[in-house]
Amino acid sequence: MVGRFRAAAAALALGAAGGLAACAYNEELGRNQLLLVNDASLAQSAQQAWAQTLASNRVSQDRAGAERVRRVGSRLVEAAGLSDRPWEYVLFENPQANAFVLPGGKIGVNTGLLAIVENDDQLAAVLGHEIAHTVAQHAAERYSHAAATQLAIAGAQGALGGSNPDLGRQVASLGGVGAQLGVLMPFSRQHELEADRLGVDYMARAGYRPAEAIALWRNMAARAQAGGRPPQFLSTHPSEATRIAALEQYLASRGML
Ligand SMILES: [Zn+2]
Repeated sequence: MVGRFRAAAAALALGAAGGLAACAYNEELGRNQLLLVNDASLAQSAQQAWAQTLASNRVSQDRAGAERVRRVGSRLVEAAGLSDRPWEYVLFENPQANAFVLPGGKIGVNTGLLAIVENDDQLAAVLGHEIAHTVAQHAAERYSHAAATQLAIAGAQGALGGSNPDLGRQVASLGGVGAQLGVLMPFSRQHELEADRLGVDYMARAGYRPAEAIALWRNMAARAQAGGRPPQFLSTHPSEATRIAALEQYLASRGML
C-alpha cells in the first residue's frame, strides 16, 4: 500500500505543479517544454550570480576586445529577436576558453576564448550558442524539471506522514535551491545540441558564416587533444565528435555548408 500511496502523491504533486504553468510549446525548438517559471522570473537569482561573478573575477582591461564581444553579441541578439531587452557583455581576464549566459541577458566571455577564435564568425558561433540558451528558456526548463521532481518527492513524503502537503509553501521553499538549479548548473546534452542548432541559425541571419562554427569546434577539439584536457566550455558540453557530427548534418540539411 505504501507504494500506491507514494505513486498517488507523486501524481498529485506533479498535477499541481503542471497546473501552475503547464507545458508550453516553444516554436523555435519545435517541441513542448515544462515551464513552471520563465527566464524572466529567474532573472533575480541570475542577478545575484552575476554580481558574485563580477566581484570574484577580474574584468579585462582590453577595451577593444570587450567592444568586439559587444558588437558581435548585439548583431546576434538582434537576429534572434531579443534586442527588446537589456543585454550586458563582460570580457573577463581568464585564460580558460569559456563563455556563459545567465537569464536576464548577461553574457560573460573569457580572454582565453578570444585568443582561440580565428575570426568574428567563430566568436559569433560561441555567442550565438549562448544566446540560444536564452531563447530556448533552457534555464527555466531545467529549473522546472528539478522543481517538479522535488514536489513529487515532497508530496510522497507528505502522504506517508499522513498530512496534506502544502504545495504552495513547498514551491516557495524551492526558491533558494532554484537559484542554483536555474542559473548555475550545466545544461543537458539535449539543450547543448539545441543551442548549437539555433546558434548557427542566428549566425546566418546576422550575416556570419555558419560553417565557421564547425571550424571552431574542430579547433577546440584539437587543442583539447593536444592539452590532454578539454577547455571548460567543451567539458560541460556533449563530446566534440557528437556535436560536430550533429552540426554538420544540420548545416547540410539547411544548405548552410
Ligand atoms: Zn551551452
